Amino acid sequence: MVARPRVPYFSFFSITLFLSITLSVIGLFPIGFFPIGLFQLELLAPISLPAAYAEKSPLPASSTPLDYRIQCRYFPETTAIAGRVDLTWRFPGAQPLDHLALHLYPNAFRPDSTFQKESSGRHRGYTAGQGDDGEMEVTRITANYDGQSVDVTKALRYIQPDDNNPDDKTLAAVDLPRPLRPGQTLELTIEFHTRLPRVYARSGTAGPFVMAGQWYPKLAAFERYGQRGRTQEGFNLHQFHANSEFYANFANYDVQITLPKGYTVGATGQETAPPVEQEGLQTVRFGQAWVHDFAWSADPRFRLFTRTVTPQGGRPVEVRLYCQKDHVHTADRQLDAVAAALEGLAAYGPYPYATLTVIDPPNDAPGAGGMEYPTLITGGTPNFPDERSAEPDRVLIHEAAHQYWYGLVASNEFEEAWLDEGLTTYAEGKILERYKPDTRISVRFFGIPLLDQPLRDGCPGLFRAALGPWVPDPIRLDSWKFASEQSYAVSVYNRAALALYSLERLIGEEKMRAILSTYFSRWSFRHPGTNDFLRIIAEKAGDPAAKLFQQWLSTPGALDYAVGPVRMVNTPDVPAWTIRIDRRGELRAPVEVAIIGKDGQAQRFLWDDGERYKEFTLSNAAPEAVVVDPGEKLTLDINRLNNYWAKEQNSAAAVRWSLFVASVCQGLMAVGF
Ligand SMILES: [Zn+2]
Repeated sequence: MVARPRVPYFSFFSITLFLSITLSVIGLFPIGFFPIGLFQLELLAPISLPAAYAEKSPLPASSTPLDYRIQCRYFPETTAIAGRVDLTWRFPGAQPLDHLALHLYPNAFRPDSTFQKESSGRHRGYTAGQGDDGEMEVTRITANYDGQSVDVTKALRYIQPDDNNPDDKTLAAVDLPRPLRPGQTLELTIEFHTRLPRVYARSGTAGPFVMAGQWYPKLAAFERYGQRGRTQEGFNLHQFHANSEFYANFANYDVQITLPKGYTVGATGQETAPPVEQEGLQTVRFGQAWVHDFAWSADPRFRLFTRTVTPQGGRPVEVRLYCQKDHVHTADRQLDAVAAALEGLAAYGPYPYATLTVIDPPNDAPGAGGMEYPTLITGGTPNFPDERSAEPDRVLIHEAAHQYWYGLVASNEFEEAWLDEGLTTYAEGKILERYKPDTRISVRFFGIPLLDQPLRDGCPGLFRAALGPWVPDPIRLDSWKFASEQSYAVSVYNRAALALYSLERLIGEEKMRAILSTYFSRWSFRHPGTNDFLRIIAEKAGDPAAKLFQQWLSTPGALDYAVGPVRMVNTPDVPAWTIRIDRRGELRAPVEVAIIGKDGQAQRFLWDDGERYKEFTLSNAAPEAVVVDPGEKLTLDINRLNNYWAKEQNSAAAVRWSLFVASVCQGLMAVGF
């Protein structure tokens, strides 16, 4: 999903500044109009495409142990879905199992759910209206194994392992009459009735538009011994929270949806049979192997645009854009962005599915936008997107990147959201750098790049713009334990992406690509955890790099290096100066310090002992300027305003002013200005 972190820079004055700077960047005003003093602004050349990862990883030849066959009917008048799931599960555990666990996600939209209590009916800037609730009722469950079919409907009980909220019905256990044995096949039939809310949080309706996400009862993810460090096999049991997304095992899906004629339906996977029409209704059928969820969307106003993309080293992918009728003039732009994403993602490995479906929600359903499902993403395109803006391209690229980390690697979004959102946000930045390179801007101070911040492409500068010094949470944390929605978004998206950028700049792009492509090829379809990722860092870039990254993930607090006091000290013979560099945040990193003398020459030092401060002594000549992290490797550094010192205080004021202006611009961009 796309985060919408709030950025605390808003005033008429700042907006005016933002407009001025932006206009200067695009050449409508001379740069000299602005107080940029010592700075050079330069447009950087596009970054060359990385070589595609050579090893192919198509869908596994074996079938999944889990199989969903779903038949359902959608009733537009009541926004209800009545359906039946026939589920076959070859039990993968090593010990007998005496219960099942089901996610009943639409119950998050019931008034007293944990999701409602935590979110107060607000989700990422969108608010539920009066009566915009939804729910799911399981009306009948039949379990068939050992040659016997048993009605287990009454054995369903709601469970609340995370917060003991008795009113939360998003997770249920079903006790089995007899234990299921390892390797045994269970057939489960679940009849259900879902009522979709008016959409404000991913799933729901808006007029004729339907976005059906997490709309059927889903078996909870079963984890084997040793998987993600588990000491005992079992289901991964979590309710649905305001700050969490999803986790499920891979399955084969065969889904039939009946709804009135006139609707156009886009869904996970491919259409596997022609629509069957009968008495004003149509039944469409979609299927896909090796996906861990199935979503569909319908709207009579959809216009279908397709484009076949063959990413380097991969197989052809049909991108299917279900475009709103009044957005058709944006269809090429939307398809271009998704094609660029697929081509960029090929650096990590091949996309193994034949389709990628893009749903374009109408303007009155923004809560459905910016979301990922297997082989299906939702965008967020306005009627008249600004040609110079990175939206809606950024959202589409972000959601397409999810296909790799959420869709194929499929990490646990309840407990380790950073693994998906962080890698996705990082990949989004890498792709945007290449897709919209023309607006990338570097700001230099004494010839040393202080900020390397794109105003329009969403890369490290933009990710950093949303950071606040108030964030105390570690990046890796159970999603519902973050202090706030803001802290969750800033940590698992922005700080995680900045940590990955920092790692890349310390170890080099080549090693970083090797880490990500190995992670992708080794762990696709296997649900890895953070430690599996860290092991690959150690393998490709050494133990110290893995330990450093682990510390960034697990330490509450910020990374913040700063220039402390610079003083002249009296020594018996020659004058000397001491320069103190401070580590003001809890996080540590190897940091470079450049001390610039009168002749403009820089002496560079590396400080890496993890202490709170370090003093450097300079004799004979006074320093003209001091810059911490002059190569801007540590993009995770929360405050770059304190990374420099200049002898000439006027120039320091100019620097501070210009950096403030730059951060205002970033802030405005981050809220989609
Ligand atoms: Zn996302």
